[in-house]
Amino acid sequence: MNLTDSNEIRALLTRHGFRFSKSLGQNFLTAAWVPERIADEAGLDGSVGALEVGPGIGCLTEQLSRRAAKVLSVELDRSLRPVLAETLTGCENVEVLFGDVLKQDLPALVRESFPGLTPVVCANLPYNVTTPVLTALIEAGCFARITVMIQREVARRICASPGTPDYGAFGLFVQYHCETELLFDVPPSCFVPQPKVTSSVIRLTRREKPPVAVSDEALLFRVIRAAFNQRRKTLGNALSAGLGELTKEQAEKVLISCGFDRKIRGEVLDLGGFAEITDEIHSLGCADL
Ligand code: SAM
Repeated sequence: MNLTDSNEIRALLTRHGFRFSKSLGQNFLTAAWVPERIADEAGLDGSVGALEVGPGIGCLTEQLSRRAAKVLSVELDRSLRPVLAETLTGCENVEVLFGDVLKQDLPALVRESFPGLTPVVCANLPYNVTTPVLTALIEAGCFARITVMIQREVARRICASPGTPDYGAFGLFVQYHCETELLFDVPPSCFVPQPKVTSSVIRLTRREKPPVAVSDEALLFRVIRAAFNQRRKTLGNALSAGLGELTKEQAEKVLISCGFDRKIRGEVLDLGGFAEITDEIHSLGCADL
């Protein structure tokens, strides 16, 4: 069966009485080159175990199965069980787990499913949960690479540089843990039903160690969140508003000791700048920091 032919997909889904769910981000691929290229970009071979989030009817799963040693696909929609049983017949190295990927113990799942293999992620993510899913995948700390299709806007934010409108807290979180690459765009015409937005495929490669050294990692991300929660304010104002005990005067003193202008905005700072500011705040030892 051709899992990217829209007529065959419709016939298959009608036969199984399947209805698309908008709230589950169900936009299935209908252009053969897309799952092939995503799988090609994921760096798969016989030494790799691939975790897929949301197999849908299995068009990307089939491509992963051809390239990786083992594939574990986690699908929330149980009504896809009989569909996947039909479409993945013959894909002996694929296991499908029905459940919410956000509720899984990912390191335990990887240990059980991919013994002796390098774990990676490859998926066309459900767009309504892109940020929590990517956060969980990165925080799991066990995936060498994460190659995923997501909305273009989110992809741009993840890969953004300081001083650009797309630059923000989530991009800095991802860039702290991974090297980021924007690979290619996919138009809405490649899906059924067609989404309203253009999609992009990105690859995140886990860093061996973070790109900057910082005394308190949790405080670094609090500082970054505070800076971007109020991105139109000066960094001094944003930090004193977002970090409990720190007064505006203390915040400005911190900026000056780090060699920054008192009126600087967070959106122009790179990770190194945020790390310096974090270390300086940490050295103050404020009560509730
Ligand atoms: N991989 C298929 C493709 O490329 O055609 C389908 C991708 S579709 C964008 C996203 C899939 O993720 C759907 O099958 C949806 O049911 C599933 N999904 C949505 N939320 C999920 C969650 N929290 N955990 C696991 N799967 C989820």
